[in-house]
Amino acid sequence: MSESSVRITEIFYSLQGESRTVGLPTVFVRLTGCPLRCQYCDSEYAFFGGERMSLDEICAKVASYQPRFVCVTGGEPLAQRPCSELLTALCDQGYEVSLETSGALSLEGIDSRVVKVMDLKTPDSGEVERNLYENIALLDSKDQVKFVICSRQDYDWARFKLSEYSLVDKVGEVLFSPSYGQVDLKDLANWIVEDNLPVRFQFQLHKLLWGDQPGY
Ligand code: SF4
Repeated sequence: MSESSVRITEIFYSLQGESRTVGLPTVFVRLTGCPLRCQYCDSEYAFFGGERMSLDEICAKVASYQPRFVCVTGGEPLAQRPCSELLTALCDQGYEVSLETSGALSLEGIDSRVVKVMDLKTPDSGEVERNLYENIALLDSKDQVKFVICSRQDYDWARFKLSEYSLVDKVGEVLFSPSYGQVDLKDLANWIVEDNLPVRFQFQLHKLLWGDQPGY
């Protein structure tokens, strides 16, 4: 029994649209609020509002779907302090728990069972100064680093960061994802192949299936 609560925008069951578990049925717990303003943000509806729920209520709602995978996302979930406690509570229930985070808040103290999917914000996101590069040392082989690429310049920047931080040796997967509607999917795919980059190209499966609707 926990006294803690967080503000929640939505909890829903869908297919994971990104990362290593793409295509697998997953419960999404979307926390409200984000201190960043990436120009391509597709979850602005999660910036404000939401409903305060206790961690027990959240766990009960998640359990009602009987999932294997649970993804805690936002907004920026770590902007709410009890998020860390929520992640541990979900791990304790036996789920495979992932955290989607902007990379702008510290990952210190996050339960080691959680798969961290951390963004490194590119220059064309508009939020590159927010990257907390100290977080990279807190990632391990089950974690993933994601670059959302908006342009060729972003791609070159991401390629540079890949080598500067030896990301491929530090994490399980580096994801290069085209910013929806801003960079041609084939262009990004071709750049990766031409440069023989050891990264995974991904696009947002949920956008292909359901467009830009909340709740998927
Ligand atoms: S960090 Fe994520 S939720 Fe926050 S503004 Fe950027 S894309 Fe949107």
